This record gives sequence, C-alpha cells and structure tokens, in this order.
Amino acid sequence: MHVSVITVGMPKMRVTLLVLRFRRIASLQCRLVRMLLHPELFYAFKITRAALCRLITQFDTYLRDFVDPPALRCQHRISFQIQRVRAELSLRETGARRDMTAPIAKLSFWGVRGSTPTVDPTTWRYGGNTPCLELIAPDGTQFILDCGTGLRMLGNRGTSPATGGASETHIFVTHYHWDHIQGIPFFAPLYAENNEFHFYSYRSKFLGRDSLKQVFEAQMAVPYFPVDMSAMTAKRKFKEVTGGDTFKIGENEITTGWLNHPQGCLGFRIDTPAGAVVYATDNEPGNAKLDQSLRELAAGADIFINDAQYTPEQLASARRGWGHSSWLDGVRVAKEVGAKTLVLFHHDPDSTDRIVDTILRHAREEFDSVFAASEGMVITLGAPGERVEAHMPGSRTALRREAQFRAHVCGVTEGGHAFQEDTVVNDLSLQGALISLRHTPRLQSELQVSMETPGVNGMQHMQLRGYVVRIDGGAEKGQIAVGVVFTD
Ligand SMILES: [Zn+2]
Ligand SMILES: [Zn+2]
Repeated sequence: MHVSVITVGMPKMRVTLLVLRFRRIASLQCRLVRMLLHPELFYAFKITRAALCRLITQFDTYLRDFVDPPALRCQHRISFQIQRVRAELSLRETGARRDMTAPIAKLSFWGVRGSTPTVDPTTWRYGGNTPCLELIAPDGTQFILDCGTGLRMLGNRGTSPATGGASETHIFVTHYHWDHIQGIPFFAPLYAENNEFHFYSYRSKFLGRDSLKQVFEAQMAVPYFPVDMSAMTAKRKFKEVTGGDTFKIGENEITTGWLNHPQGCLGFRIDTPAGAVVYATDNEPGNAKLDQSLRELAAGADIFINDAQYTPEQLASARRGWGHSSWLDGVRVAKEVGAKTLVLFHHDPDSTDRIVDTILRHAREEFDSVFAASEGMVITLGAPGERVEAHMPGSRTALRREAQFRAHVCGVTEGGHAFQEDTVVNDLSLQGALISLRHTPRLQSELQVSMETPGVNGMQHMQLRGYVVRIDGGAEKGQIAVGVVFTD
C-alpha cells in the first residue's frame, strides 16, 4: 500500500488529505481519502485520482498554493511505503490519525549559491540565488536562515506565513557579508505593517550595538537604494545572540556556535520535535577551537548543512584563508559526530552544475546520505518510515510532449547499486523526460538514457545523460515515474 499525506494549510485551519492507494489488493484498487478539517470534522470517501485533482483545484488560489509542490499532478507527498500486509490492515482510523499527527518539519532551500548570485545558464540546475533557507517546525513556527537573494523569492510566494499573519517568523542571520543580507531590501513582507519579524544576529566588533539594525540602514541609505527605511513598515525586533547561546522558540530549541570565517560567523542548530537541523555555512576548518564548536553544534544532527564551496584541492592551495570548506570537511564532520544526512551548501559562483555534480559524486562515495543543496529543494523531516526525504522542484519549463520512445536506462538505485532496464519514455522536452522504471534511482544521481529514434537509415540510438530530479508513484503497478533533466 502507498500512503500519501497532502497537507493544505491556512492561518487557523489545516486540511489534511490522507490518500491510501492499495496496489496489491485488487478489490481495493481505489484511493480512499480521509479529509481532516482541523480535528473537529472527519470523514472518508472513495475517490479517483482525477477527482482528487479536481478536489484540490477547487480550493481557491490562496489555499491551492499551499499544496506542495504546486500544480503538477496535484500531489505533494510526505510519502512512505508500508511493507507488510499486516500493517495495511492495522492502519485503521486510529493509525491514520496517529500518522497524521507525527511531527513533521519542512526545510526549503530558496538560495544555495555562495558569494554572489549567478544567472549564467551553466548554473541553473542548482540555482543562482545566495543563501536563504526556510524551516517550518512542527509547531508552525517559521524560521528563515540568512537573507541572501533567495529571500526575495520566499517573500514573493504570497502565501508565506509571514504575509498571512499565521505564525511568527524568526530570522537568523549568520553574518553580514553581502551574500547573506542582500535579499533584505527586496523582501516584500517587510513592507506590510501587520507583519512582525524577529531578527537574531551577533554584535559585530566593526559595527557595535544593534549591528543588524545598522546593516538594514546602511543597505537602504542613499545613494545605494531608491527607497528609504521609512517604507519598511513591518515591525522588526532585533535580538543579539552570541556563540554558545541556547534558547527556546515555541517547541524548538536553538543553539548557536561560532564558526571560522573572516569577521566572524554563527552556525545555528534548531532542535524541533521532528529532528535537528544544523546550518553551518561560511566556515573554514583549521582552527582547533572553532572546529570543536562546529562538532558540538552538529552532533547527531538529522540534517547537517555545511559549507562546501571549494574542492579539497582548491582549499589546500589558492583558496586557503577565504573562510570556506570543501565537501570532504563536511563528510569528515558528519562521520565523526554521527550526523545522518549531509547537505553540501554555498556552491562557488564559478562551480557549474557539472562541477557540483562531481563534488556530490565524490561526497557520496565517502558518505551514504548526501545531497547537494539545490534551489527549490524541500527536505521533510520526521515523516513515519523515512526520517529524511528530499523533493526537488519542477525543473522543466519547456513545452512537454507526450511520447512513446523505447529506451534503455542505466543508473544507480537508492541503495547505491547499479541497474539497467528497458523501458519507455513517457514525455519529452528539450530539457528532459519522464521515464517509467521498475528500479528506484537515487535522487540527484545520473542516468544514461539511450533512446531509439527513427532516422533516415532506420532506427538510430540517441544517447543522453540525465540527472534525476523527480521520483513519483507511477501510473502502473510496480512502476515509478522518474523525471530527468538532460545535462548534455
Ligand atoms: Zn557566504
Ligand atoms: Zn561570508
């Protein structure tokens, strides 16, 4: 059986659709949807996939935008496979209710590029906006980590808890380098007076008291910005923190730790009821005290986001002293402190997608669970069955055409084993394709796709290299739908 949980939220009400798909039991090959309108109302009905899509599209735009990812197949899944029939049978009302109340945290990557934004086409897959992450804790608290150019996109989402006034927003700023603050003047929710933000950062010895407040004023001073501070009408509260602090926000415990970076930088750890997220960007190993500070911060983290700007070779030579790490440093720390999933972050502006692919491949050879931070990527934490699950954004914007090409595919499964299989390409655009497979390839891994295409001299073989961006339940039994973006 496959269980999908779709959560649709708005300020004072959350709607949860629990979709149960029974694959093995023929008589139950239907989708049973339980719909929870806050805890008071509860009802169940059978529904087809098409009707489910209709149901979701019936919500007004405001609600629909909460369905994540928006549009495409109208299905956001915090999904998990239940292996045994026994488990299927015991998943009655009480079980369903229990699963839905499991604490789940959602971490979204709005900006992952270090130093300066990139817009060149060779960097589009991982993305060009500078650091900005959003963590929605199980209690609804919204955390924003850093205010790089990715913050603008977060603010434009329109359904941000910040603009809806649903819950508090707490913004942690690691340090004051351009790439971590540049999104502030472009964050639309700061210009709405009903909004309230809590900012946390450290007192810089170069700025003194109210360092972040001064950064705001300096960024918007003449002649650097056309609008002055008076336009920024949202309530802003600034709190000074320093390395080693711990405090609670809602159900979540925050810990800070100093990192090794020119003019200083703070790492943040957020322990939520769903698990611990550690954000440690802009850090160079080699200072014993600060290396220890990072290890204490990252100990046992479920998600450890670490600076991986350079290759180990660059870091050993020309880039030493610039305040950054390599993928290898992240792997070492993750292994030492028992972090479960490592996310390589702060990609160098000169690292093309192919270079980041290579960095990710090297890291995966050394550590089991690694992702390369990618703009639009969402990682959920705490879902039953799978503690950490990553989702990639829709990456193909070009027109897609339904297709029926026979193809041969080689790749690597989630468990790291090589596989080959013959299949059919279901839809095709210049950027990528949707392929049905029996094997589950690893997200962000490479697939070799060899397609048969009719040519003037009979059938020709077209060889393409694909990068896995999407893994979905397939239309047919035992099949999954795999979305790839062609990389050359
Ligand atoms: Zn940076
Ligand atoms: Zn920096």
